Amino acid sequence: MSADLAPHDFLRRFVSAADAAGFRVVQYGQADEFPLLVAENSPASPRLGIHLSAGIHGDEPAGSLALLTLMQQGWFDAGIAWHIFPLLNPTGMDSGTRENRAGLDLNRDYRHAAAEETRAHQNWLAHTRRRYDAALALHEDWESRGFYLYEVRESAEPDLGYAILQAVEPFLPIDRSPEIDGFPARDGLLRPHADASLATVEQWPEQLFLRQSHTALSLTFETPSAFPLPRRVLGHIVAVKTAVNRLLAPHIEDTFDI
Ligand SMILES: [Zn+2]
Repeated sequence: MSADLAPHDFLRRFVSAADAAGFRVVQYGQADEFPLLVAENSPASPRLGIHLSAGIHGDEPAGSLALLTLMQQGWFDAGIAWHIFPLLNPTGMDSGTRENRAGLDLNRDYRHAAAEETRAHQNWLAHTRRRYDAALALHEDWESRGFYLYEVRESAEPDLGYAILQAVEPFLPIDRSPEIDGFPARDGLLRPHADASLATVEQWPEQLFLRQSHTALSLTFETPSAFPLPRRVLGHIVAVKTAVNRLLAPHIEDTFDI
């Protein structure tokens, strides 16, 4: 179950890659013996602002490894204002558990913020007062038969979610179940929680909180844990790259006669 990922080692590698890529790494909190870290940059006239996060569940290593790999590749466009949270739950990664060491599922904690990790994240977001164009969260699912994603946004944009699914499909199968995680799904795309129903949800995931207060668009990627780790990492990398490229050039297919 444990991913053989040690948080100190992971964070050391991430900091080293972020330094080399010209990012600042800021400690925004502390989870027992581990620092909570965010990488940020400051472009003069950013084309987009993006919040990127992984590792809120300690038994889902592919997202954190995908962010590390993208950082090592120098992929993060210096023209975009990034806030990159590579590991929201280091004590969970240390124990190989979904929850943090105190037994709290951090991704159900964003309405009432009982955990120090959640409070530190929310305080940092309140302090920076950033409004993002998009927030991307990288997760894994032990029960799914393939990749799927959640999309929550102000207005319906039919193409983005399916463009991401199409890009990932050569690397991972898509879970085409009609219902996933209790929500109706269509070809791997879930659009739960119309904004009007937010007040009735007691246990907010991170992305509902971000959607409520900090971003126009929230995307959550889910890779199937039963598949080999390198393929899951690759699935996240392809999903992130496709989403960001589409946000930079949403109508590129109209620009070129293809
Ligand atoms: Zn998760």
